[in-house]
Amino acid sequence: MKLLQASLCLISLISLLLVLPSIFAASSSEDFDFFYFVQQWPGSYCDTQKSCCYPTSGKPAADFGIHGLWPNYKDGTYPSNCDATKPFDSSTISDLVSSMKRNWPTLACPSGSGEAFWEHEWEKHGTCSQSVINQHEYFQTSLGLKQKTNLLGALTKAGINPDGNSYSLESIRGSIKASTGFTPWIECNRDGSGNSQLYQVYLCVDRSASGLIECPVFPHGKCGAQIEFPSF
Ligand code: 5GP
Ligand code: 5GP
Repeated sequence: MKLLQASLCLISLISLLLVLPSIFAASSSEDFDFFYFVQQWPGSYCDTQKSCCYPTSGKPAADFGIHGLWPNYKDGTYPSNCDATKPFDSSTISDLVSSMKRNWPTLACPSGSGEAFWEHEWEKHGTCSQSVINQHEYFQTSLGLKQKTNLLGALTKAGINPDGNSYSLESIRGSIKASTGFTPWIECNRDGSGNSQLYQVYLCVDRSASGLIECPVFPHGKCGAQIEFPSF
């Protein structure tokens, strides 16, 4: 009897050891499904009722700036603030800082160097992507995506310029799709007079952060059929 119990116990132990690795593998591959890569138009951040403050390095270029690279689930929800043991550490990205000042400028008030914005994005979103990319890769990948997507180039090539005129949402989406190969999601906000305008562009990136994909799910929210593209 004792022998039977002992062997049953051993069998359960062995089977547990066999399934444990697959449980862990499953959970680590489900920590997120894809990224949103989000870029903001500075003119639309600044002409709202809230207004903005230029960074301490001066007025940014009239170009889209990076907002963030956000891990997401296919059901539309997302993880955030995943690892308090890995705070933002600017010494790990010293080689990227001058490019970040140009491509990832902060427009929030009061004026800052950008560090507070980058720290917020790393801690809220970046820490949730560490199964795939570390802190240096998080920022480097984002800079590479900004270069590669060249949103302003895509729009101006189609005659869509930041001149305060209105453009159809269809033509904005179409020009970005024609140039990047992927359908963007456009987020609007309102200028000081309440007009709907192009604020942020979302593109999707595969979970290994190696390139753009079609979005598995789009965020919610609506622009008008015609939206403004303000100057900056
Ligand atoms: P808002 O409420 O202004 O749309 O978003 C506030 C913040 O919530 C964003 O800047 C971002 O940090 C986070 N957020 C909003 N929507 C999403 C989303 O669909 N995915 C992820 N990962 N974060 C989001
Ligand atoms: P999220 O909306 O990504 O969760 O949070 C954005 C945070 O970064 C806010 O606390 C906002 O004040 C700060 N922030 C700093 N600079 C910028 C900027 O240029 N654009 C946006 N959207 N947020 C900024």
